[in-house]
Amino acid sequence: MLTQDRSEAAVRAAPERYFAPTSLEEALPLLRDGNATLLAGGTDLMPQTQAGRVRFGSTLVNLRHIAELEGIARTDGGIRIGALATITALMRSDVLRRDAGVLVDACDHFASAQLRNAATIGGNVCNASPAGDLLVPLLVLDAEVELASMPGSDRRIRRLALREFFRGPGRTAREPSEMLVAIVLPAPPADFVARFCKFGTRPALDISAVSIGIGGVLRAGALSGVRVAFGAVAPTPMRAPRTEAALEGHRLDAATIAHAASVAGREVHPISDVRASGWYRRELIHNLTMRVLRDVHAT
Ligand SMILES: Cc1cc2nc3c(=O)[nH]c(=O)nc-3n(C[C@H](O)[C@H](O)[C@H](O)COP(=O)(O)OP(=O)(O)OC[C@H]3O[C@@H](n4cnc5c(N)ncnc54)[C@H](O)[C@@H]3O)c2cc1C
Repeated sequence: MLTQDRSEAAVRAAPERYFAPTSLEEALPLLRDGNATLLAGGTDLMPQTQAGRVRFGSTLVNLRHIAELEGIARTDGGIRIGALATITALMRSDVLRRDAGVLVDACDHFASAQLRNAATIGGNVCNASPAGDLLVPLLVLDAEVELASMPGSDRRIRRLALREFFRGPGRTAREPSEMLVAIVLPAPPADFVARFCKFGTRPALDISAVSIGIGGVLRAGALSGVRVAFGAVAPTPMRAPRTEAALEGHRLDAATIAHAASVAGREVHPISDVRASGWYRRELIHNLTMRVLRDVHAT
């Protein structure tokens, strides 16, 4: 009986139409009526629809044949990562390894090899989980999202800072008629260093209980242009302006590190859930901020 109920629900929830376009020119008009669901690797979408937490729109658009969404390339102003780039592709990219190593480090903590082969950066960003592993390093790298739509005959492109993109768990500033086409990273300033740290309740294949990214320009032992981001401690991945201010321009000595860690612990107000209590998450933020800053100092 249970199986019967489930399959009826699945039929009711199934999309009415399926498309697998091979170009943005073909794909974007399919999004015009605002009732399309986009499929990349499917590693979030399929479990969510199976569990009934997400309903398909009337049209399912498979993005995986659109070559314009692939690739990781250096541009005049920085690096452009196509929305379809998989976690494996990010890990193999020399461009990222050189100028955005903190993103590659985060990939190293991401799920399993099978998942990394299917999961995309675009899916991680658009799924907007507060615990999404790529979101913290992308915030530290000051990433922007590039969104495309086609309201008429011309393509419209909109760029938005990633920190303004997240609106709540699973909610973003993307309009239903828009597709995320790329993540754009500015060229890092000279002497920029950044570190990422994820803590889960198991050493591998786990969703973050908290994650931390810290970056900045390190000169003569002091950090400037500081960027601090936390994951899994708020409804969205967040930048931490008070912790950044506690570090800005200061030498990374023991007193600065202890003060910044204490500010960090007080800057977050996490909830308790199955992965950790709010109290434990705050302690983790305090202790891991200290650990990451010591690591930056030792660079
Ligand atoms: C067993 C397991 C382990 C996991 N482990 C981790 C982990 O360690 N760390 C982690 O961060 N995540 C993890 N995840 C979650 C998931 O793998 C990632 O969030 C992944 O990056 C999602 O990418 P995808 O290509 O599979 O997205 P999909 O599932 O295809 O899509 C996710 C959402 O984004 C939308 N979307 C996708 N691409 C676009 C686009 N270009 N434009 C607009 N909307 C788009 C979809 O419509 C959907 O709403 C795990 C998932 C599973 C099942």
